Amino acid sequence: MNFTPSRLLDLLYPRRCALCDAILKSDEPFICRECGGKVRFRDGETCVKCGRPLEGRVADKGRKRFKEFEEEPERPQQGRLSEACGKGLTGLQSTGPGKNVCDECAERHLSHDACLAPFAYSGMIRDSLMRFKYHDRPEYAGFFAAAILHYGREIIRQWRPDALVPVPVHKSRLAKRGYNQALLIAKELSARTGIPLREDLITRNKRTEAQKELTFEGRRRNISDAFLCPDGKKAPGTVIVVDDIFTTGSTLGTIAEILKAHGADKVYGICVCS
Ligand SMILES: [Zn+2]
Ligand SMILES: [Zn+2]
Repeated sequence: MNFTPSRLLDLLYPRRCALCDAILKSDEPFICRECGGKVRFRDGETCVKCGRPLEGRVADKGRKRFKEFEEEPERPQQGRLSEACGKGLTGLQSTGPGKNVCDECAERHLSHDACLAPFAYSGMIRDSLMRFKYHDRPEYAGFFAAAILHYGREIIRQWRPDALVPVPVHKSRLAKRGYNQALLIAKELSARTGIPLREDLITRNKRTEAQKELTFEGRRRNISDAFLCPDGKKAPGTVIVVDDIFTTGSTLGTIAEILKAHGADKVYGICVCS
């Protein structure tokens, strides 16, 4: 057995699978082999604003279908993740955000230009994000960043971004959790792509109420003055905002509006799931 420092760290703090939390073998960087065979990326055309599949949702009015979609368990989709648990992330499964906008997003007049999200917020991904946010699993950020790049590297390259901006959390929440989950993902993305990380462009000046029960309009009111671009800051031309979950788009839309008022021409979003 080879006791290099990283090997010793593994023994003291064993790395865990980001999807099932089992202790990983040394040749499994982010998720275990079993989970690698189970989890699926999105495939097919997605809404340009929310990254959700468009199939059957473009001309569909009303909330019912959307609700059903949200509660649907993991859909069997093409694009296996198995490569993502091994070394060398190769291949690109996504056909990328299309030109079309789904009904829900069309009604909301969201200010960001596009958003990609490799997963739906359901099943093992939802459980993983809950542990990541609330049960001290900051190391999962490596998996989320790898998955985002595996799914969307080519799209991100086409966006030609100047900066990655993590959605900030309020300092009281930061004190409780110990880390900002969006910042951890943004840091990993920055390290892997070379896109500069800009934490200074958006700050949070208000702790918002829990948003879970709020409608889109309620959320938008709730966060309309929660973020700001500090005085004297100028946003570069093309910015990607990084968050963990896209729900209604109120956070991303609001931040995009602020960044555009401070000089950004294009604002895109990257979320783990939507
Ligand atoms: Zn696993
Ligand atoms: Zn949409």
